[in-house]
Amino acid sequence: PQGATVGEFAELLGVNSSEIIKKLFMLGQVLTVTQTMTDELIELIADDMGRKVRVVSPEEEYAVVYNDTEADLKPRPPVVTVMGHVDHGKTSLLDAIRHTGVAAGEAGGITQHIGASVVNINGRQITFIDTPGHEAFTAMRARGAQVTDVIVLVVAADDGVMPQTIEAINHAKAAKVPIVVAVNKIDKPGAQPDRVRQELVEYGVIPEEWGGQNMFVNVSAKQKLGIDDLLETIILQADVLELKANPDALASGFVIEANLDKGRGPVATVLVQRGTLKPGDAVVAGTSHGRVRALVNPRGEHAKEARPSDPVEILGLSSVPTAGDEFRVFEDERDARKLAEERALRARLAAQEAKSHMSLDDLFNRI
Ligand code: GDP
Ligand code: MG
Repeated sequence: PQGATVGEFAELLGVNSSEIIKKLFMLGQVLTVTQTMTDELIELIADDMGRKVRVVSPEEEYAVVYNDTEADLKPRPPVVTVMGHVDHGKTSLLDAIRHTGVAAGEAGGITQHIGASVVNINGRQITFIDTPGHEAFTAMRARGAQVTDVIVLVVAADDGVMPQTIEAINHAKAAKVPIVVAVNKIDKPGAQPDRVRQELVEYGVIPEEWGGQNMFVNVSAKQKLGIDDLLETIILQADVLELKANPDALASGFVIEANLDKGRGPVATVLVQRGTLKPGDAVVAGTSHGRVRALVNPRGEHAKEARPSDPVEILGLSSVPTAGDEFRVFEDERDARKLAEERALRARLAAQEAKSHMSLDDLFNRI
């Protein structure tokens, strides 16, 4: 049932409405018999009473809206994540890439760290996401979210395949994301780039020149060798994927990074996956909500909008969301607030139950 009143809901469950009111009150929700319960509250209370009530959640409603037609879909830039074993050069490679992006005609340069960056090569955009924390990845994958389109697997030519190399390959396979291999540190005397290729065959990562599916590029992050070649290869790989999204919709995507800034308050870096985000938009991010006061791009400039595959900082949220949280724009700010509050409530309840190891029913029985 959608938008059922407390009375209707009680009738549906065959219980006295005062029982529902009591449970709502325990959750800090003061409602009367004739007032409408939100879908999440309905699910929450029903669940607590051991009943399964199927509610068409806002998420599901939104998912229906996600059914964009072919005509709605427009090409979008690739979103790339650099992965690999510790010390194989992920950070150095990202630095070299950003430097190249800046040298290739970007005005200003990268002034701040927001967990993502954008580079342009031959007029084409590539969005790089800093390898997010494990929890963020897990959270996003649990929601079935595909955040990255291409994984750049960094393997040091003097070290070869190591445990985290294999982890990254497994992650890419699970997420069905193509791998471009950057064989790094080719400047080192002990570098054996072809040995890296041989080792990777065992894990199903096979160079195109050997009849496989993977593009390989030899690079030196330190000496900035092969960086343009790598960027062009990423574009080639992206072109095969024919990445598209609907830019003419209310924006949605994921939180990459978030923190509390002394001067600016809660700041969240989000990746827009669909729609166009604009200042003034009513947004919910996890259990946080608000109106977008300003958008700041990776170069530290105020942005008029953020389109699919753009990373951008959002200012104006009520609290700091968590990396991996979904964000979504609503037409009406009240809807954003409602969903944020329901999510917060759910989280509080889950934490409470986990802590006390008892259900709400147990609580009532004891009072
Ligand atoms: P991460 O742990 O994967 O982020 O690796 P880092 O980028 O921090 O690099 C680890 C070490 O390898 C640092 O001392 C880098 O200076 C060094 N390094 C990274 N790339 C190269 C390279 O292309 N050549 C050489 N010789 N050293 C490199
Ligand atoms: Mg690093």
